[in-house]
Amino acid sequence: MMKTALLVLALLAQIGAASAAEVVVYSARNEQLIKPLFDAYTRQTGVAVKFVTDKEGPLMARLKAEGRNTPADLFMTVDAGNLWQAAEEGLLKPVESKAMKANIPAHLRDPGNEWFGLSVRARTLVYNPNRVKPGELASYEDLASPKWKKRLCLRTSKKVYNQSLVATLIGEYGEDKAEAMVKGWVANLAAEPFPDDTKAMEAVAAGLCDVTVVNTYYYGRLMEKKPNLPLAIFWPNQALKGNTGVHVNVSGAGVTRHAKHAADAVKLLEWLSSDKAQNLYADVNMEYPANPKVKPDPAVAAWGSFKPNLINVAEAGRLQAKAVMLMDRAGYK
Ligand code: FE
Repeated sequence: MMKTALLVLALLAQIGAASAAEVVVYSARNEQLIKPLFDAYTRQTGVAVKFVTDKEGPLMARLKAEGRNTPADLFMTVDAGNLWQAAEEGLLKPVESKAMKANIPAHLRDPGNEWFGLSVRARTLVYNPNRVKPGELASYEDLASPKWKKRLCLRTSKKVYNQSLVATLIGEYGEDKAEAMVKGWVANLAAEPFPDDTKAMEAVAAGLCDVTVVNTYYYGRLMEKKPNLPLAIFWPNQALKGNTGVHVNVSGAGVTRHAKHAADAVKLLEWLSSDKAQNLYADVNMEYPANPKVKPDPAVAAWGSFKPNLINVAEAGRLQAKAVMLMDRAGYK
């Protein structure tokens, strides 16, 4: 009798282990950034992590098409605008987790708990120190001032990073002031908008223009390759009062609405937000840990500290459609 009971218990434990042994992730974050992380998780917990990588658009379309039959438990992507969109389309479900609330500051996660930031990217100013003194720079709005005429380079408005930046400006200043600002930027452009952050910085380094707006990890990557380029980081909106600071965004994740391993997906999410994983997650892309208890990589810390804008990153999603229309009206291509 006793023996049978033990056997049944052992069997149940095995079944439990079998169903708990896997989490499936759809990731718009590149394989080289996530694989080391998932390998470490599997080593620590024995839980296998399977993943599919693609751009966020196709992954969201796939989640939608698969509906309740999806194998995906966790959706991972960059930019709060994309995470917000996934939630808006009903692809995610709320997660009540004390660990996530403790590890991730409120402004870096969905107020409805459907997604959570896991790394922070700062979209800041990069200038040519041969042509600009840092004292001449001030803020995103100052880049609209006539003193920057033919001195500004920007990445295209088609990129979600700039849509999120402008969405945040709308949230902060209202639509009219934000539009005047973006019109001012366009009037100051020295060249047509660039297809990516790196090309915009290369134009600054080459003297085509004096300042641009980029995510810091692109600066880190470029300077690693070409350390002698005349480029430097400036943290805008630091001196002003109120709800300002450097525009930050996140990469992050949420549990899918039809997750088959939802509890295990939450555990993986919690682990990703923990001190154990945060450096692994952020450092590999020269980003900032989302968990404020974790210090950035020394190479990233060397760029100096800054006050981030504490507006909830979900605003980037909520105001994205408005931002796209505003940039169109302003002639920002
Ligand atoms: Fe990027």
